[in-house]
Amino acid sequence: MGPPRLKDAAEIEAMAASGALLADTLDLLADAAAVGVSTAELDDLAREHVRAGGGQPAFLGYRAFPGSICASPNDLVVHGIPGPRPLADGDVLSLDVGVTLDGWVTDAARTVVVGEGRTEDLHLVAAAEHALRDAIAACRPGGTIGDVGAAVQGRAAREGVGVFPTLIGHGVGRSLHEEPQVPNVGRPGDGPALRPGLVVAVEPMLTLGRPAIRLAPDGWSVFTVDGARATHAEVTVAVTDDGPRVLTPWGGPDRW
Ligand code: MG
Repeated sequence: MGPPRLKDAAEIEAMAASGALLADTLDLLADAAAVGVSTAELDDLAREHVRAGGGQPAFLGYRAFPGSICASPNDLVVHGIPGPRPLADGDVLSLDVGVTLDGWVTDAARTVVVGEGRTEDLHLVAAAEHALRDAIAACRPGGTIGDVGAAVQGRAAREGVGVFPTLIGHGVGRSLHEEPQVPNVGRPGDGPALRPGLVVAVEPMLTLGRPAIRLAPDGWSVFTVDGARATHAEVTVAVTDDGPRVLTPWGGPDRW
């Protein structure tokens, strides 16, 4: 693995256009996720919206992944394949979308609670958004990848939820997965330096239970081992001279 491929100002603007289409798509999906709607229907909605905006769904066909989005309800942590099962009241649904526009890939996710949520589930979803906010704040020149992981890990501990040590964020740009890896655990000051022009997908994945995972026989779906619910919040963020710039804004706690 070589060093991260830094992006210049024009490239970051191009990625922001990709990210704007992605953010708009996530808004659409969050509004559409309701009792009785299937994740296959959400997948169709996303694919049509991304294509209408001139982009391509980045996940579709990636290592033969069959969906345009990852849809991961309840104890499914990430990489859920969209399907016909209708959403039920209280489902905790992670929606993860990748967009390619003019050759630039962006990646973002949010978790919605369908209908009436359980108190502990609403807390879990909020905890991931707070962890993401803290992770974004750590994406500044002079920092390190370890700062980002420490921000997520620290927030998860303070909110009393578990963080999966093996599920990580990544660099993003011309490809969906670039250097560096961005773990959700770490120590301040450790790891690669954060330089202006580095673009990463930061993505806290948290659980109410034990942070251990198993891969389903479909080769994609990542479940919690203990059946506890999980949540996922992700943005694509650029490190700039002016600090972090979120390229997939969707209005979390600080309107990122
Ligand atoms: Mg990602």
